[in-house]
Amino acid sequence: MTHQGIWVVAEQTVSGISRVSFELLAKARELKEQGGLQAPVTAVLLGENLDDYYSAKLMEAGAEAIILVDHPVLRYFQNETYAAVLKSLVEERQPSIILMGATAAGSDLAPTLGAKLHTGVSAHCVDMRLNEEGHLVAVVPAFGGKVLGDILCTNFRPQIATVRPGILGKVICFMHKQCPVERFDIADILAQDQSRVKALGITYEEMKGVPLEEAEIVVAGGFGIESKEIWQQLETLAAVLGGAVGCTRPPLDEGWAKESQMIGTSGKSIRPKVYIGMGISGATHHICGMKDAGLVISINKDEKSPIFDVSDIRITADAATILPLLIEGLQKNEDDVIC
Ligand SMILES: Cc1cc2nc3c(=O)[nH]c(=O)nc-3n(C[C@H](O)[C@H](O)[C@H](O)COP(=O)(O)OP(=O)(O)OC[C@H]3O[C@@H](n4cnc5c(N)ncnc54)[C@H](O)[C@@H]3O)c2cc1C
Repeated sequence: MTHQGIWVVAEQTVSGISRVSFELLAKARELKEQGGLQAPVTAVLLGENLDDYYSAKLMEAGAEAIILVDHPVLRYFQNETYAAVLKSLVEERQPSIILMGATAAGSDLAPTLGAKLHTGVSAHCVDMRLNEEGHLVAVVPAFGGKVLGDILCTNFRPQIATVRPGILGKVICFMHKQCPVERFDIADILAQDQSRVKALGITYEEMKGVPLEEAEIVVAGGFGIESKEIWQQLETLAAVLGGAVGCTRPPLDEGWAKESQMIGTSGKSIRPKVYIGMGISGATHHICGMKDAGLVISINKDEKSPIFDVSDIRITADAATILPLLIEGLQKNEDDVIC
């Protein structure tokens, strides 16, 4: 049997199915059409209490076949068990391409599955297409985000790729579509499962302020902020504007910001009305996460900085000098309005 067909490994969440699963189904349908493929786009969902709601949602989002693996042991993501189930399914059905969200679970599962199946994984893709030979071309930023590289897995199958939520963006909606739904029994797999880890529950971090993904104004800082003290001024500016703070990777490495604040291919994708970027160079890894912002205002001391190429308002200035002026000006304005 030759490998064929595109699978999307969907993800169950507390409120249903993760949006990235739908984004991947839309991309899978596009790839199928582009390659003139015959095999149905298949959604595979592992979880607990997978009733008709789940299959209806997957059909609506473009699945042409659905495999549900429903078992109490799959209630919480647990890498070894999930990988054992998927390995067994993949070896039996032999899909050619497997797409997963680069979520916390997907980023763990994809390489484990790749290693178990002795195949390659393209992580954190920003786009994908099929080439003339029918291979998946996974587009991944490289060299600090300065270039986009095409990654191919020509000698092994399946070809596995992960994409961060929001990077593909587009979701399709087919109303009243029907497709075959199969329930896959895992009793035999569980009997042999050697998993050493058991997930007992999920604890959610308490959110403070406006969530980054929902904020209408985002003030993002990069390595050009230069110190924790100036970073605090950036946080003050965001608070004065009623916005959220975002960051590139270096502020995370420096300990100024938290991982949940990173914007980009390994972070979050945002669509605020206004994005203010300070001390950010404009690497592809970051741009991919903010390209859909409404008004982009950038402040950088280098007038040739690439971030200016994607900005509506370009300000050549030192962030440390401009931050206190902006805060003071905005606060003064607020006082004037109150008076
Ligand atoms: C696999 C992988 C995944 C990655 N994922 C992400 C991701 O999701 N998100 C992300 O952001 N990055 C990511 N990165 C890192 C990314 O490639 C870049 O290195 C990063 O975005 C650069 O951050 P920066 O612009 O803050 O820093 P730099 O590139 O160092 O730029 C700093 C900028 O600040 C300016 N500047 C300096 N001093 C001042 C000042 N006083 N005032 C004003 N401007 C000043 C400089 O002119 C420069 O343009 C990833 C990298 C890899 C390898």
